[in-house]
Amino acid sequence: MAKLYFRYGAMNSGKSTALLQAAYNYEERGQHVLLAKPEIDTKGADRISSRLGVDRDVDFLIRPDDDVRALFAVHRRRVQDRAEDALIPESAATGARPDVACLLIDEAQFLTPAQVDDLLRIAVTDGIPVLAYGIRTDFQTRAFPGSARLLELAHTLEELKTICRCGRKALFNARLVGGRFVFDGDQVAIDELSADRVTYESMCARCYLEESAGRLR
Ligand SMILES: [Zn+2]
Repeated sequence: MAKLYFRYGAMNSGKSTALLQAAYNYEERGQHVLLAKPEIDTKGADRISSRLGVDRDVDFLIRPDDDVRALFAVHRRRVQDRAEDALIPESAATGARPDVACLLIDEAQFLTPAQVDDLLRIAVTDGIPVLAYGIRTDFQTRAFPGSARLLELAHTLEELKTICRCGRKALFNARLVGGRFVFDGDQVAIDELSADRVTYESMCARCYLEESAGRLR
């Protein structure tokens, strides 16, 4: 049975790099994958960018009101038709219909809970493995709605680790505006304030609590 995987971590834990590597591993074996991400992430537009300099266009973007399962079915059909047109020798020999081997989702924390429900249906009912990559918690240490649902539903959870400035494993994502730590504000703020640039620092619990003077949310 195909499964839903949630690979989560703090910011800068190499999630996009891991996603692109996973896509490459499938394609190296001659398999087809689909890449998607929520539209809310304005930073990369319709590309998945890794800090190592590798980047790639997504196959489709997911808007907040989109039916992810229907959207996936449209793009799955496109892959099937294109692969059949190309007359791939090995599939012609075996008679197997070319299909999507895996759906890869970047920035999965920005999906709605209902869209994450659809990811489980794509895996279990439609039989296509889904690998979702995302950040577990926001700058106030609360789970993003999409991440909360993925933690509830995923068959397999895998943590991608990164290091705090002190050397411990980073757990949280502290927000800086104009270089100063802030602990109030909207959950999503991606470079939207031009005068006071928003950045994030991945931190262990001890360093976070020091900067927040003990505050967690
Ligand atoms: Zn630390």
